[in-house]
Amino acid sequence: MRLISALDSWNGEGFTGPVLFEIEDDRLTVVDAAVKDDRSAAHIDGTAQIEGTAHIDGTAHIEGTVFPGFTDSHVHLGLVDPAGLVPGGIARVVDLGSDPDLVARWAAADVLDVEYAGAFLTALGGYPVGRTWAPRESIREVMSARESAAAVDEMAVAGASVIKIALNATGPIWDDRQLHAVVRQAHDAGLPVVAHTEGVGQAMRAVRAGVDRLAHTPWSELLSDDDVREAAETSSWVSTLDIHGWGERTPEFEIALDNLRRFAAAGGHVLYGTDLGNGPLPVGINTRELDALVAAGLSTDAVIGAIAPGPLQGRVSVIRGSVSADRPVLAAWLSTATVHSVRDLEETFA
Ligand SMILES: [Zn+2]
Repeated sequence: MRLISALDSWNGEGFTGPVLFEIEDDRLTVVDAAVKDDRSAAHIDGTAQIEGTAHIDGTAHIEGTVFPGFTDSHVHLGLVDPAGLVPGGIARVVDLGSDPDLVARWAAADVLDVEYAGAFLTALGGYPVGRTWAPRESIREVMSARESAAAVDEMAVAGASVIKIALNATGPIWDDRQLHAVVRQAHDAGLPVVAHTEGVGQAMRAVRAGVDRLAHTPWSELLSDDDVREAAETSSWVSTLDIHGWGERTPEFEIALDNLRRFAAAGGHVLYGTDLGNGPLPVGINTRELDALVAAGLSTDAVIGAIAPGPLQGRVSVIRGSVSADRPVLAAWLSTATVHSVRDLEETFA
């Protein structure tokens, strides 16, 4: 059995304290009770607690905290150099709109952990058709349920784990019948739907059509408290606050921040995402985006959950030294994380 210990880890809900993992292939699993008994450790609330920390002879030790790989849940790999993401502290991305062949190649290249939607599904002439940053290969314009079924199938075959749709009322958008058809088709294929919504009314229209996730915190309007509560029950939101002004507080930033503050307070699930490729954003962890999550009133646990939503598998993030998740320095502390492949952990921390 291959084992590795650490000062601390994040298990998706909280910090575990000193921990001993088994390395199985590319996955970390907290060791079971039998092994802990062998190491004379206590078992508390189902979480492994190794007393006196687990410096075990012959076992690699991480003098720091282990997290699921820090994830940017909204990127466009075709618009940046993806090779810069891991050195910049991002282990895993969800690409929300690119040429499906291109993102499949980046996923296969394994320079970082990649999930993707493939192309945008949109109305004829709808967003992002005509945008200079959006190549034709990254868009499927669909006008009927038959065409959207074919597009959903194409993305599923291309390896998509989500379907991205656009509802941007500054251009043509689907009617409710077509919107509901796409959502149903994606769900029938086992794929959640992520929507770009823009324009008054579009965010709640997406939520009520059964869209699982909004690609951006809504910024076109201040949503009512009732709408925010309704959205919090059924959808998750990708934050993307920093696209509004990149550090300058614009009116759109203030609207999005207010919506996100109430969404989080209502128990809504927030994911860290930057829309990387859209504007002058750092390739890697964006400390301003994390600071904005703190400003939106997310709890420390919610901020960490937003950037580390995945399993301890593939690539993980490590912050060396003892835990210091104090709120004033939370964003800065998280920004010091480095990315490590589970397969290389023993060698790195031998
Ligand atoms: Zn985007």
